[in-house]
Amino acid sequence: MANHSTEPSSSLSFTSSSHLSNGSYSYRQANKSYSSSGVELGPPGPPPPSANLEVISLNKLSSNLEQLLVDPSCDYSDAVVIVEGTPVGVHRCILAARSKFFLDLFQKQVESLDGKPKYLIDDLLPYGKVGYEAFLVFLNYLYTAKLKPSPVEVSTCVDNVCTHDACRPAIHFAVQLMYASSIFQIPELVSLFQRRLLNFVGKALVEDVIPILVVAFHCQLSQLVTECVDRVARSDLDSISLEKELPHEIAESIKLLRLKYRSDDEHNIEAVDPLREKGIKRIHKALDSDDVELVKLLLTESDITLDEAYALHYAVAYCDPKVVTDVLSLGLANVNLRNHRGYTVLHIAAMRKEPSIIVSLLTKGACALDLASDSQSAVSICRRLTRPKDYHAKTEQGQEANKDRICIDVLEREMRRNPMAGDASVSSQTAADDLHMKLLYLENRGIVLQMCHLHDCYSLLKQS
Ligand SMILES: [Zn+2]
Repeated sequence: MANHSTEPSSSLSFTSSSHLSNGSYSYRQANKSYSSSGVELGPPGPPPPSANLEVISLNKLSSNLEQLLVDPSCDYSDAVVIVEGTPVGVHRCILAARSKFFLDLFQKQVESLDGKPKYLIDDLLPYGKVGYEAFLVFLNYLYTAKLKPSPVEVSTCVDNVCTHDACRPAIHFAVQLMYASSIFQIPELVSLFQRRLLNFVGKALVEDVIPILVVAFHCQLSQLVTECVDRVARSDLDSISLEKELPHEIAESIKLLRLKYRSDDEHNIEAVDPLREKGIKRIHKALDSDDVELVKLLLTESDITLDEAYALHYAVAYCDPKVVTDVLSLGLANVNLRNHRGYTVLHIAAMRKEPSIIVSLLTKGACALDLASDSQSAVSICRRLTRPKDYHAKTEQGQEANKDRICIDVLEREMRRNPMAGDASVSSQTAADDLHMKLLYLENRGIVLQMCHLHDCYSLLKQS
């Protein structure tokens, strides 16, 4: 009977090992002290010969078992897991021996594919998401007890000045492996990825701490939850983002902690006008229900302006692109407004990576050259959120367009086209013409403009 103790395995645990000093376990390091013939190569002091032999045999076992995964002539798989539409062959005996989750799973009857039981990974995960590459890294660990380095295509971004030590793709990849390790019950990997995620918390942008906090909450990693809650509470991340993006109880605990920090610092108490707050909330609620007519009504009823409510920032972050177009066409909001965190509306649009919204904003004179307080431009924000795999993804005819690529292309062309920062009045007509060209260009490249919102932009352009 397999040992499914919840404690990290003692013989192969690397949570206490020096290999983990920078939070990443190196494949090469594990084998470094021994040549292929099994001769010990380097310091520290020689272990007893029996230990040598054991390490060599375990290494051999590990690479033999890896053959089951990587060698097509060795395909004795007897079940299939579908990940992002791709079937991955697995061996039930190995998965069941390594994981209590799979041991229980394989006792249930399921549909089959080519005579093999078939499992959809999304059905196995009650929350979170594990992509194809992350699942392969996880699976490889189950077979070999060795953790491969994260594939560059999915764990880095396409910003060439980024060191990728805490950008969104790097964090997302570790988050996916945490979901897999926790749900599939591999405790030593949970410890490893908890350390890796903790390492991100101090360095990452606060909005990138949110996915870490969410995985920590679902996987009940109390230390990680505490660290993330503290980081977010000390940040200037607005309470709307907290409410929209975090589980209710976590958002509440962050707000409480903020109150505590503020009362510790008596000089820092902001006067909040509850009536005003209520008025702003009503505008946001109207935007949530796509009701721009109601927004207009609320504006005439109260003395709160669209800009005071950061209505464009809100719509760009959370609403349907059509709502953004409608709010813009009211002509009452400053398209280059900065919120209290120093982000322009276009920066927020870049974070959302929705091409039609970016195009709507540029058409109305949003400046692509404006920098956020951390010196990021809209395009560098976009690049830092985009994985090489998505940026280089080819779009087959009829498929959804490569939105990541369009956002970056549109913003880069806008920056090259308009070196005169912020002088929208001079160039608004040429900007409109140029955007029209841009859309045609994208169309000519075979990118399907199935997004009706882009067509809305066309009609806007024709009107202007
Ligand atoms: Zn990066």
